[in-house]
Amino acid sequence: MDHREIGQQLDLFMFSDLSPGCPIWLPHGNTVYSILQDKIRKLNAEFGYVEVRTPILWKPDLYKISGHLDHYAENMFSAKGDGDLYLKPMNCPGHMEIFRSKHWSVYDLPYRMADHGNLHRNESSGSVGGLTRCRGFCQDDAHLFLSPDQIGSEIVSIVTMVQRVYSKLGMGLIAAISTRPLKFMGDVSTWDLAENDLRNALDAAKQDFIENPGDGAFYGPKIDIDVRDAIGRSWQLSTIQYDFNQPAGFGLEYQAADGSRQQPVMIHSAKFGSIERFMGVLVEHYAGAFPPWLAPVQVIGIPVTDAHNAYLLGVADRLRARGIRVEVDMADDRMQKKIRTHTTQKVPLQLIAGERAALAASSGLVNAAPDDASKMFLATQTLDEARHVAHA
Ligand code: ZN
Repeated sequence: MDHREIGQQLDLFMFSDLSPGCPIWLPHGNTVYSILQDKIRKLNAEFGYVEVRTPILWKPDLYKISGHLDHYAENMFSAKGDGDLYLKPMNCPGHMEIFRSKHWSVYDLPYRMADHGNLHRNESSGSVGGLTRCRGFCQDDAHLFLSPDQIGSEIVSIVTMVQRVYSKLGMGLIAAISTRPLKFMGDVSTWDLAENDLRNALDAAKQDFIENPGDGAFYGPKIDIDVRDAIGRSWQLSTIQYDFNQPAGFGLEYQAADGSRQQPVMIHSAKFGSIERFMGVLVEHYAGAFPPWLAPVQVIGIPVTDAHNAYLLGVADRLRARGIRVEVDMADDRMQKKIRTHTTQKVPLQLIAGERAALAASSGLVNAAPDDASKMFLATQTLDEARHVAHA
């Protein structure tokens, strides 16, 4: 099923004509979105990244230096303030501005800057309406500033991070190296070294790869990592991109061990890429049935009758105190209808509460087990199981 249909069914996101191409994340969708960002933040912290927050509005001068005004202007939104301003289409130029504002020595490198800021690109309106190409989105963006001898191990680290992220999501990886195109900047020997670094890093990370000769950007070679979803489709999501251009344009420097001024190597990297687009892929990968650790609602409490509402609200409080996302359905519907609704909503765990006789009388509700704190009974899952599964 298409992610737009699932998104509506599970109340994950919506669109409004009043903000074309910009998804509005509803509570359930925003929960999944935030969990993905948290995963990346934890991984970043573990691998020594620091996170920054950079402005959305910049003067054209920034994009003159970065080259975006020459090559990317038609994709950029402008705004009027005191003079012309642009909405940032990507984080890198702002990160260059941070790097060039300080004095750096080789002992400060590698410097790994992450940013989850809002980006805007003027995508054509034809692609608007789903998450595949949004005009407003965030990336799990990172830029690494390195001395040449640090490149190999850093690329192994990035590939390891990508492998960790996608194995947790049950998705396979295919890597591809794109090498020097006909038109390129810099010299051939620098490119050869860089391409070899990429090959060696993929070997060291035990990651299979193919090569796309001549397919690199003019400013550097790259690794693209395609992700294979549950129904066998491939999505180009992760990138590890060398950039010889922006550090030169911004005049970035660090002081080498011998006291000389050197230009750092800069690498762009993202694991999910656009989180909006990745959410679309993920929703279709799971067909909306997120694993318990990612599900927006992990446990739904369903009372057999109104008389069991208060008891279930107490159970919900106890689960919430343990960090479990739980709701109680107190709507004026029959229990069987609620069970159907939350099965369609793909809530991983249903806690059904009532007296033993009432539970046993309801078809399918076997395994009724007493909850230790009460003479009420929970069917389908016990409280301990719920805690365990939701934290898996
Ligand atoms: Zn970048």
